[in-house]
Amino acid sequence: MNSQELFERALKVTPGGVHSPVRAFKSVGGVPVFFKSAQGAYLTSVEGQEYIDFCMSFGPLILGHRDPEVQEEVIKMVNTAWTFGACEPYSLELAEWMVQNIPWLEKVRFVSSGTEAVMSALRVARAVTGKNKILKFEGCYHGHADALLVKAGSGLAGTAASDSAGVTAKIAEDTIVAPLDDIPALEKLFVKHGADLAALIIEPLPANFGLLIQKEEFLLKVSELCKKHGTLLIFDEVISGFRVALGGMAELTGIVPDLVCYGKIMGGGFPVGCYGGKKEYMDLVAPSGPVYQAGTLSGNPVGMRAGLITLKKAQRENLWEKMALTTSTFRENLKNLFLAEDVNFKVASYPSLFWIHGARKELPAQLEDLPPNHGDNFKKLFHCCLEQGLYLAPSGYEVSFLSLAHTPEVLDRALEKFSKAVKAYKVIT
Ligand code: PLP
Repeated sequence: MNSQELFERALKVTPGGVHSPVRAFKSVGGVPVFFKSAQGAYLTSVEGQEYIDFCMSFGPLILGHRDPEVQEEVIKMVNTAWTFGACEPYSLELAEWMVQNIPWLEKVRFVSSGTEAVMSALRVARAVTGKNKILKFEGCYHGHADALLVKAGSGLAGTAASDSAGVTAKIAEDTIVAPLDDIPALEKLFVKHGADLAALIIEPLPANFGLLIQKEEFLLKVSELCKKHGTLLIFDEVISGFRVALGGMAELTGIVPDLVCYGKIMGGGFPVGCYGGKKEYMDLVAPSGPVYQAGTLSGNPVGMRAGLITLKKAQRENLWEKMALTTSTFRENLKNLFLAEDVNFKVASYPSLFWIHGARKELPAQLEDLPPNHGDNFKKLFHCCLEQGLYLAPSGYEVSFLSLAHTPEVLDRALEKFSKAVKAYKVIT
């Protein structure tokens, strides 16, 4: 069966034919490609077509698909056990590795997704502070917990409105939404709501509505205001954790968050999430404290082994330094290609991720920096790329991911394909 036939079947049994919205190609149009296998930097569709993958399952695969060391360990674990629902040494080893390698993590709790990690960290923050409200930023995504499926409400008061059917106005009321990259607006919101704010949550490298790199000055102000108002600072490093550096953005900025959320890479491609931070806060979590949080498959041994082997290999291979160089070289090459072809695309990047955008600024920092036609232009470019065998995340607002498997040879091949794709793009625009 080809992708079209499979999608028609999927539409009959699953909302929109998918189990997570962006996979459905809604923002780029057309029929989503169904893949049957993956290896390294490559995907193979059910039709047998090969693609260079820049979506990389939206981030977990920092070593590439089916890294041989991870694969061997996963098979070993599956041959041993794949869930206990009881104490075991596998999650302990990963927890110890994280606590030993990341100075601001004194204790961690494993869950099964980034959403769960964020939801639980917010609960802890409310218990620590005795306050109810949380502050998030427009242009950051933190998973699909009710309190975070909100957008800025009308007016400048920062109050949120529900951004999804099924999220009540009552829940949205406890979330304050601030613009990114705007210190005066943030200061005002703290004056108004600081006394009620249990937590401020931020993607220190916002990478869910494009790549909106924040100035260090802004992040420092965020941290300062949190301290001043007794608001816990939660870094959502579900994407940036173990990607931009071993210690993520907290390491690169030197800002010590009160709580951190991880996911994606730390599960090596299996469903794993984690929240952690200071011992005094984490000890509030059940069974040592009154904050209830649990999970049947939390700390699943297969994910734990995949995560630990991924992280150890990344550390041994000096992956973060290598990826920084690979990414900047690729960004420059891609940028030069767009320039040479005179198409209106730019490339923003941070180690091991990049984003093709159409903003006037080289490095947009807010959603408003994007021109209204960005989505449409990207849609055309996406299909030209797909035609050439390049699989980008199917939305102009999703970033692209690189991995250790994106070797210079693979990236040279990708550039040739990009060059052909851009030429085709020019013909249709
Ligand atoms: N936080 C960030 C920054 C994310 O990018 C995501 C998912 O993309 C989440 C939280 C939610 O993670 P999950 O999809 O594992 O629930």
